[in-house]
Amino acid sequence: MFDKILIANRGEIALRVLRACKELGIATVAVHSTADEDAMHVRLADESVCIGPPPAKDSYLNIPALLAACEITGADAVHPGYGFLSENARFAEILAEHNVHFIGPRPEHIRLMGDKIAAKRAAKELGIPVVPGSDGDLGSEAQARRLAREVGYPLMLKAAAGGGGRGMRLVTEETELLSALASARAEAKSAFGDDTLYLEKYLKRPRHIEIQVLGDGKGGAIHLGERDCSLQRRHQKVWEEGPSPALNADARDDIGETVAKAMRAIKYFGVGTVEFLHEDGKFYFIEMNTRIQVEHPVTEMITDIDLILEQIRVAAGGGLQLTQDEVKFHGHAIECRINAENPVSFRPSPGKIVHYHPPGGLGVRVDSAVYHGYVIPPYYDSLVGKLIVHGKTRSECLMRLKRALDEFIVDGVETTLPLFRALAREKDVIDGQYHIHWLEEFLARSGLPE
Ligand code: ADP
Repeated sequence: MFDKILIANRGEIALRVLRACKELGIATVAVHSTADEDAMHVRLADESVCIGPPPAKDSYLNIPALLAACEITGADAVHPGYGFLSENARFAEILAEHNVHFIGPRPEHIRLMGDKIAAKRAAKELGIPVVPGSDGDLGSEAQARRLAREVGYPLMLKAAAGGGGRGMRLVTEETELLSALASARAEAKSAFGDDTLYLEKYLKRPRHIEIQVLGDGKGGAIHLGERDCSLQRRHQKVWEEGPSPALNADARDDIGETVAKAMRAIKYFGVGTVEFLHEDGKFYFIEMNTRIQVEHPVTEMITDIDLILEQIRVAAGGGLQLTQDEVKFHGHAIECRINAENPVSFRPSPGKIVHYHPPGGLGVRVDSAVYHGYVIPPYYDSLVGKLIVHGKTRSECLMRLKRALDEFIVDGVETTLPLFRALAREKDVIDGQYHIHWLEEFLARSGLPE
């Protein structure tokens, strides 16, 4: 096992990793920018190192500063959390060159899945169904037009290096293709430094369903069921739940086993999520994330498995502690991502939290790093915290969620809590009848909650 883990992240995920380390008896090192001196992860870690000024590129993405922090503190492993350097293959390689373990997959798998065109090709070869589309770069405008005709309209332009919904464009007919190509390319270039685009058939009303996996790097891999993340805004997840209201046990076993088999074939190492769109009973692979995800607690609540603990154990060479048969699903869990944003315009609302009261009680979990008097800095994402609620059934879970949301107080900044209060009372949500465009349609229709 590792002796000391440096957590190369901030906010709730830094705290989440720190908790797992404490339970495993591993010493922790927090790193922070000058904007995060008073952050909770810094206060609770055994040691902390300031790695730079507020902008992420100068601190949380500053590889030389992180290496120096490892050297000064003698950390033998780095947990990257999500975002920042978590899917940076070069970072994983540089750490290895300095004899520091990267708690994550091998660089070649990060690189493979980071290129969404290569990832789709690999998925297809591994027997995973993919969204029909172009097999490679779109090339010239004439070639793009030809490929688009082959796939048919409406279609989706996507960036090979994509993430966070950037570089994506819906194209409903051919007259829109060239301008969409230009704007998607420009967005991809500025966001990722790579303007390679591909195209996909646009699925009209699918759900987003993703499978959680864990591999030992030696050909052993299990799946931990699915999360339904269909409630999205601008292709960003807002509400996640498990099990999916759209799957039964057989469908879950089928797709879970297809994915686990593929992970065994590539000898996947660590935690990962294989994302699908699901329409008319069929799954279509869109991408794989080679890191722990924001919504991992949904899976933890329905399996009673601490994913970060397992992730650390596997990274340390401890192998899988569980067989597929030992993974049992019970009850239902829902996660709400509560952001410091105006619930109508979604404009970020950084500032000081003057009153904070998180909900509690049976089946209620809050993963957050904020506290009474905490000042949310303007430099990073606007996540205040995640409310995760568990119940024996989906209806018990919804009942508990409503109660927990009503109890949650965050004063001083605007938050998206009113949106979740409204969603938990919407008939389609209560019935589990929603798809990836449902939330945007709801927001347009309802004029938004107060
Ligand atoms: P990113 O890596 O930028 O998050 P993804 O490929 O994971 O992009 O897609 C993000 C979201 O965009 C999906 O969850 C879905 O809502 C929507 N989406 C992606 N591909 C398609 C498609 N072919 N048809 C319809 N919606 C899509």
